[in-house]
Amino acid sequence: MKEEIEKIKRQSQLELKTLLSETDIYQFKSRYLGRNGSLTQLIKLLKNVPQGERAAVGALINAFKDELEEQIEQALSQVHAAARNLKVSEHTVDVTLPGRQLPLGGRHPITIVADKIIDIFTRLGFEIVEGPEVELDFFNFEALNLPKDHPARDMHDTFYISDDSLLRTHTSPVQIRTMQVTSPPIRIICPGKVYRCDSDISHTPMFHQVEGLMVDEDISFGDLKGLLTTFVHQIFNEDTRLRFRPSFFPFTEPSAEVDIQCVMCRGKGCRVCGNSGWLEILGSGMVHPQVFRNVGYDPEKVTGFAFGLGIERIAMLKFGINDIRLFFENDYRFLTQF
Ligand SMILES: [Zn+2]
Repeated sequence: MKEEIEKIKRQSQLELKTLLSETDIYQFKSRYLGRNGSLTQLIKLLKNVPQGERAAVGALINAFKDELEEQIEQALSQVHAAARNLKVSEHTVDVTLPGRQLPLGGRHPITIVADKIIDIFTRLGFEIVEGPEVELDFFNFEALNLPKDHPARDMHDTFYISDDSLLRTHTSPVQIRTMQVTSPPIRIICPGKVYRCDSDISHTPMFHQVEGLMVDEDISFGDLKGLLTTFVHQIFNEDTRLRFRPSFFPFTEPSAEVDIQCVMCRGKGCRVCGNSGWLEILGSGMVHPQVFRNVGYDPEKVTGFAFGLGIERIAMLKFGINDIRLFFENDYRFLTQF
């Protein structure tokens, strides 16, 4: 019996060295310790051993069984460690490789200019107010002194939702909405999308405006000139010249359009400025007394000014862009230039 144990032991130690995979090890385990394994068979034969020797032989078999189980555990953990190492070596990171460049998105030129305009007026103490793009006729026209059948509605031809509601043609209705619920002093700018039935090289059916409104006691045209001069110098150049040219808007009186010295030819005259040396950039004026009455203000007590400008127009002049439609075509080659 002892000889038999030694034989199996030698055999197992030889086989143990040839085990390469997890499967090999489990098969080995089953060959020795399984239900029909050689070691299990030995234990079954134990009952044939004479009484006096049985305990010693039993202890021998048990020691061998323990040893074998430990060896199997060891072999398994070696195989697992080897598999882990292989996996790690396959996924090694070479830290000396150059990094991969990720394409970085940029801001749209309209957003760049809008942010710049908002930044300038915010630093001058103006608050930002927004309003709905689908607007009532009352806020878009009537309250701004543009009654039905007023000829000035012509240049505001727009898209109607119903007889009474439309896509706003300017951001001025936000001024009316603000004045209706706020008492002076007021100092706001209203940026946003506006809509008109226009489409050519310098007009799109949708474009962006920023309007400003300042109302208080003793606000004068001088305040308007000072503010817009500061604005023009900050958005263009400190030495950009500007002029106020009399104009007409139903909601301001007196009204003025503001021209700046042509940014392309510096006033010498070119194709962009139609050889005049000047470019129109915004409309402005003192708020019409009737507009104040429409929102419940007393025009004898308060005065104010309003101005409005197209963001696309400013962006075209600032970046030297000659076709407004480029802003909305989203051509990658165009957009990556800013
Ligand atoms: Zn010019």
